[in-house]
Amino acid sequence: MANINEAFLNLEEDYLFSKVIEKMDEYKLKNLNAKIINLGIGDVTLPLAKTVIDAMNKATYEMASKENFKGYGPVQGYDFLIEKILKYEYEKRGVKFNKDEIFIASGTKGDLAGIAELFSTNSIVGIMEPVYPAYRDVNIMLGRKNIIYLKGTEENNFIPQIPKEHIDIIYLCSPNNPTGIVLNKEELTNWVDYAKKNNSVILFDSVYEAFIEDEDIPHSIYEIEGAKEVAIEFRSYSKLAGFTGVRSSFTVIPKKLKVQDFNSEKIELNSVWKRRQSTKFGAAPYITQRGAEAIYSEEGQKEIKENINYYKENARYMLEKLKKAGFTVYGGKNSPYIWLKTPNNMKSWNFFDKLLSEAGVVGTPGIGFGKTGEGYFRLTAFSSKEDTIDAINRITNMSSKE
Ligand code: PLP
Repeated sequence: MANINEAFLNLEEDYLFSKVIEKMDEYKLKNLNAKIINLGIGDVTLPLAKTVIDAMNKATYEMASKENFKGYGPVQGYDFLIEKILKYEYEKRGVKFNKDEIFIASGTKGDLAGIAELFSTNSIVGIMEPVYPAYRDVNIMLGRKNIIYLKGTEENNFIPQIPKEHIDIIYLCSPNNPTGIVLNKEELTNWVDYAKKNNSVILFDSVYEAFIEDEDIPHSIYEIEGAKEVAIEFRSYSKLAGFTGVRSSFTVIPKKLKVQDFNSEKIELNSVWKRRQSTKFGAAPYITQRGAEAIYSEEGQKEIKENINYYKENARYMLEKLKKAGFTVYGGKNSPYIWLKTPNNMKSWNFFDKLLSEAGVVGTPGIGFGKTGEGYFRLTAFSSKEDTIDAINRITNMSSKE
């Protein structure tokens, strides 16, 4: 009989969001008439921008002619999209890259899993916590045992300290999912300095970058001097342009970023990733890349900003009303997430059950984002305005009944 890769047995039984959906469906079956409002899953709800739809329609019709038909695309992505990224995401912020430093993909999730394969199994991994659980899981799947959690607590404003010990691979997420905190220039500079001193690599996830509103918060880690030598950046169109179902993203691996082999020879991670992608990734679809390109037009920018502002207004409303009702809440600014401290130190899954049964509102238990998340709860601003107002009313009424 075939043997299982035992690393997979070290994972927690259920992926956090599957468990949330399972519990919600169970409740729905028992309460057929109840209107449940889901502020749990971090998925967008507004439709795609018209500019994006038009571009993808046009690209689809191109496929109908022999002259314009596209088969397998370039593994790193089409130049038309990469050139827009270089100009509008980086040059605008004073950062210069070459085309071969950008890799277009079909969502950041896959790249986060793939990049983790590039490092030796014995690597010491440092993961900011609470955080998106996929970072931890992909490393467990690869059999890594040396995982250090860089704890963000109320005492340090959910911003982990620079560790005293050595770490090889550092996961940073800013704006953070789930706490909504952002890392400022000084904090990022400290991480870049640490990585340089320790020959570490920073995996910088800024898929929520579009929610940043404070002028002094970097949108990209490459706004920090020296970051090209130590950091990989992950960016996605999922939350930026509502592409969670379309699937499009990009990863930046600067040519200056080097790691070493067993003979201490320096190796460019960029070429190793390209080699890996050539074997494991079938290139991102032409149609979705045309859709992503469209967001950089004047009209596209206007449309996606309207959607982001809609979610930001939800977040602002939630923060204000929950604070007023006496909850301790974080995030909600520079981020679509509200990080709520459960009342009376309630365990986060208990609060989930209470909220569902008493208010018909679904959120995400903080413990799902790591042990440091126990006693907290994540609410998202991705619902409709009407549902957000309704949900917050229900929550605040419930709390006043306690
Ligand atoms: N990184 C973080 C922090 C996320 O919260 C998510 C999705 O919610 C992702 C990455 C995955 O993004 P994508 O939709 O591009 O796969």
